Amino acid sequence: MRVILLGPPGGGKGTQGELIEKKYRFPKISTGDLLRREVQEKTTLGEMAKAEMNQGELVKDDIVIEMIKHKIFQPDCKRGYILDGFPRNVGQARRLEEIEEKRQEIVIDIHLSEQTLIKRLSARRICSSCGAIYNLLACNPRKEGTCDICGSELIQREDDVPEVIKERLKVYHEQTEALIDYYSRKKVYFRIDGEGKIETISKNIYSILDREIAKSRVMEAAR
Ligand code: AMP
Repeated sequence: MRVILLGPPGGGKGTQGELIEKKYRFPKISTGDLLRREVQEKTTLGEMAKAEMNQGELVKDDIVIEMIKHKIFQPDCKRGYILDGFPRNVGQARRLEEIEEKRQEIVIDIHLSEQTLIKRLSARRICSSCGAIYNLLACNPRKEGTCDICGSELIQREDDVPEVIKERLKVYHEQTEALIDYYSRKKVYFRIDGEGKIETISKNIYSILDREIAKSRVMEAAR
């Protein structure tokens, strides 16, 4: 099972991905998190990706494909995995299918109004150490500026500022939105309303995943 979390930046892919990871025990692979780590550690790859990330542009396909390749063939991904922030364009989606053909796919698109996205992105804070996600409007840490999980400092992502948010949304409309059509044609696309409470959204996602997992078991048994 390959769960692809689609949707604009700030739509809740990271938060929902963590919940799916816990419930189904599929590891979550976030290309954004992987890239931020490379930047933080000042690796060659991080240096190559930094400028695009800070401007809200997409990093070169070859870079993210290499990262994904390295992750999805690890033993912990054997039963399934969750992709958060990948693919970001049709080219990446095609490359993924070339790399790993035989995987059942489910695409969950968390849909939100542009107004809510901008509000959420501006209020988002992340843990500088473990990457846990907080939101000053809805999901505050117990102690201001401090991660509940590991006690490290909370920071604002460099790309969660108004000019970069605008560019990221533009890039989403220009490049990523085409994946809605791409995956709809493959009949693996499901849209979820992302405006409600976190628990309501995750319940809706679970019911899709449970149904699709059950369906695939029946199909496998019939083979
Ligand atoms: P995210 O955390 O998913 O919002 O990603 C943050 C930034 O990392 C994006 O704005 C891009 O610059 C870069 N990035 C993450 N995933 C990808 C991807 N699949 N393809 C290209 N760039 C990516």
